[in-house]
Amino acid sequence: MLRLNHRVRVLMGAMFLVTIGSHLYAQVQPPEVWLSLLACCLVYPHLVYQIGQRAPQPMRAETAAMGLDLWILGMWLAFLGYPLWIGYVSALGLCVGFSAYFAWKGLISAALALVAGMGSATLIWGVRLSPDTNPYTTALCMAQLAICLLLVAVGSKQRAAELKATRKRLSENEQALQRQLSEIQSLQHQLTEQANRDPLTGTYNRRYLDATLPRELARCWRDGLPLSLILIDIDHFKRVNDTFGHPAGDEVIRSLAGLLQAQSREGDVVCRHGGEEFLVMLPNMAHDAAVARAERFRLAFADFVIPVATDQTLRATLSAGVATTPTHGNDQSTLLRNVDDALYRAKKMGRNRVMSAEPPP
Ligand code: GH3
Ligand code: MG
Ligand code: MG
Repeated sequence: MLRLNHRVRVLMGAMFLVTIGSHLYAQVQPPEVWLSLLACCLVYPHLVYQIGQRAPQPMRAETAAMGLDLWILGMWLAFLGYPLWIGYVSALGLCVGFSAYFAWKGLISAALALVAGMGSATLIWGVRLSPDTNPYTTALCMAQLAICLLLVAVGSKQRAAELKATRKRLSENEQALQRQLSEIQSLQHQLTEQANRDPLTGTYNRRYLDATLPRELARCWRDGLPLSLILIDIDHFKRVNDTFGHPAGDEVIRSLAGLLQAQSREGDVVCRHGGEEFLVMLPNMAHDAAVARAERFRLAFADFVIPVATDQTLRATLSAGVATTPTHGNDQSTLLRNVDDALYRAKKMGRNRVMSAEPPP
């Protein structure tokens, strides 16, 4: 704004020099009047610009300078005896400029500064009245008015174009930010998934279970619903590793994980509890239904032919323990201890079977 106002001030100074100069030319004026006019029209705009640039608050300095412009004009108008055309054109030009920046409040400030300038001149030189201007000055004033109006129109157009460009830039920036935000959100999601998933099977890991089980237990307890846990362990898995190799063992673990996930409802959580041990959390599932579900897992796994190499397949069996709230405990550790006991008993009784947790004595 400082540079734009400087250009306007230089232009207005040149125009005033011509119009007021042509008016003074028709009168006999001492040299100091001409010097003052030259100083006001040619030196003052640059002086104000330099001061504004060095000011700690340039915008504040510029606002003060705009007031000073009108004060000086008021002085000149009163000194010249209020020549009608010069007064009308110059005051109108400056007031329009002022109000374009500061609206009605600016217009009032402009009028006050103008009157203050007139008052100051009247105190020095007394009341002067000489409203007429010669035809050349009148014509120059008309030209000045036309130029001023054109400048205001061009300025408005420029400002509107700048505003449009700024809006476009802002909207582009906003879109770029939105894109970055969704990328960050998707990365965050990926990171959380990675932290909660077991890399071998893609099922949830123990960390996720430890975070979810207490929450689900609380929710089911609040809603008066049961929650069942099935703990599954592959039978004689060491033999699988020993006979077919570790990669084949991995394939068996992956097959069991796929089977458990395929046979789970939405809301059930299948998690790799460690090694070849899986824990399935079944919110809102009663004990009998959970035992039936475990039985289904067992039969399906026993039937499953696992391809472990290009020309090799194998079958394996699993044992499972089942515990349900509130019968086998309400808190995480009691429930896990009981389901582990049930699995242990299933192993002890010969494997390839499902055992219920013991109800408390
Ligand atoms: P049981 O019927 O009593 O469960 O006998 P088991 O041989 O299955 O005994 P256990 O459950 O203790 O064996 C776990 C074995 O699983 C030991 C370990 O070498 C193997 N194991 C653990 N994690 C992995 C894995 O990620 N991949 C493979 N291939 N083997 C694993
Ligand atoms: Mg095991
Ligand atoms: Mg095992």
